[in-house]
Amino acid sequence: MTGGHWLVASGNPGKLKELLAMLAPRGVRLSSQTELGIPDAEEPWPSFVENALAKARHGARLSGLPTLADDSGLCVPALGGAPGVRSARFALDAITDPVEREALQAGGRARLDAENIRHLLARCQDVSAPVRAYFYSVVVWVASADDPRPLIAEGLWWGTLLAQPRGEGGFGYDPIFQPDGHACSAAELSAEEKNAISHRHRALVRLNTLLDEAGV
Ligand code: IMP
Repeated sequence: MTGGHWLVASGNPGKLKELLAMLAPRGVRLSSQTELGIPDAEEPWPSFVENALAKARHGARLSGLPTLADDSGLCVPALGGAPGVRSARFALDAITDPVEREALQAGGRARLDAENIRHLLARCQDVSAPVRAYFYSVVVWVASADDPRPLIAEGLWWGTLLAQPRGEGGFGYDPIFQPDGHACSAAELSAEEKNAISHRHRALVRLNTLLDEAGV
């Protein structure tokens, strides 16, 4: 089935851009949180799926629309899976001084992305190369805030961490992630190339099947 109007519940512009491009073929009208004035949900949970579900229910409750949310991050097995669910706030979590933390938070997304990368590379100094890592995405779709049967799909994208950031595209940890089978960082891929192979792409392919099976 096509048509309808969904909320895409993400306050992260890089992620939102990718989700909107990948969902366009479904022929659904898509609104972002910003368009509808919906604030970010809290993400206090220890698993990606709990955070994604919380975001989807929060968005559906405030918008009254079927809602899709993604929770994602970079996992380094040699670091016990860190940064994992804390990917977006990895550098912030390491700062104990509240004034310093506030200053980093106020510095904007690009500065936080750069600090997250710097902090991760510092943590990897004692890990023997190549440092293996994967991006993980779980996408959740709910028909309404109290939907008893959310649709849930996950995707993984394996690669190796680079010692230095490379490239200007993408967002987050893309400049230090070299996807398997590629000689460049994810930030050096075009948006179309990344969207055709990423963890988010893989999760959305599975979600599309679930949506079709559910007759959505
Ligand atoms: P959240 O899902 O909004 O909690 O944040 C996900 C965080 O994981 C982002 O802020 C990035 O730091 C990281 N991340 C998730 N997906 C990607 C990606 O495709 N490229 C680079 N970093 C990503």
